[in-house]
Amino acid sequence: MTQFKSVAIVGGTHGNEFTGIYLLKKWQQQIAEVSRPSFNTELVFANPRAHAENKRYCDQDLNRQFSEADLANPTLTGYEQSRAKAINQQLGPKGDARIDFIIDLHTTTSNMGATLLLLQQGEVYNKLAAYVQQQMPEVIVIRDDDHLAQADHRLLATLGKFGVIVEVGPVPQSVLRADVYQQSEQMTQHILDFLELWNKQQLPSLPSDIDAYRYTESLTLPLDDQGNRLGMVHPHVQDSDFNALEPGAPLFQCFDGTVMTYQGESIVYPGFVNEAAYYDNNLALSLHEKVTIKVSE
Ligand SMILES: [Zn+2]
Repeated sequence: MTQFKSVAIVGGTHGNEFTGIYLLKKWQQQIAEVSRPSFNTELVFANPRAHAENKRYCDQDLNRQFSEADLANPTLTGYEQSRAKAINQQLGPKGDARIDFIIDLHTTTSNMGATLLLLQQGEVYNKLAAYVQQQMPEVIVIRDDDHLAQADHRLLATLGKFGVIVEVGPVPQSVLRADVYQQSEQMTQHILDFLELWNKQQLPSLPSDIDAYRYTESLTLPLDDQGNRLGMVHPHVQDSDFNALEPGAPLFQCFDGTVMTYQGESIVYPGFVNEAAYYDNNLALSLHEKVTIKVSE
């Protein structure tokens, strides 16, 4: 049976997401808070240069550099591409990683609340999600591209044998909010507790299934032929992460006064609504479908 012997908590993968960085600073002084008897915990500050420059990244988004192909590609030499290779040496190598479980701490400017992003499927993740939600009922569970092979995933958390993303918002970039900080800390503590209980085979009884959201696609802002923005997220959708969006409902408010509606054929659930970090790609929001995770067969 899987045993977790080494755990890494990663903060500052995005240099302007302060919450994880300040949690790391705290735990560096108080390592006992994130230690458990059955495993070793390491703290990793992933992108110190971007943080020093008060940016998400310097050259490339660090959290898109961890596919096995890219890690093995010597022609990728930007700062974050090199940083990814260094982190791969430190915690990996991906595919045969020294670290059993990675917790990567992120924040969002969107009104998503406390979310747990699962990037792979399986018993560990299903039970982890059920346990975290049992301890912290406000947590929303997202299955994000969990159909991809781990080797092809580009996210840092997929570098370990197992890994998840803790994503909490809303909080502006380069800002601390006590509620977001506390939720991030609380969720991390529950994940560590789960790993300890798993190792000791002392998990409490868990629900047989839980609700989750599965990422399906991203929608871009309306653009003209030259790539100029024609509108913004409609107030009906703004701050309404994980509220049902029905076909024909308002989606974008255009500068010329018109409203663009959602053209899909079924009810979807938006997330990362108007996320500031996605403006460089003109991404307006992600869409999810509601799914059930079977916790026990
Ligand atoms: Zn992030």
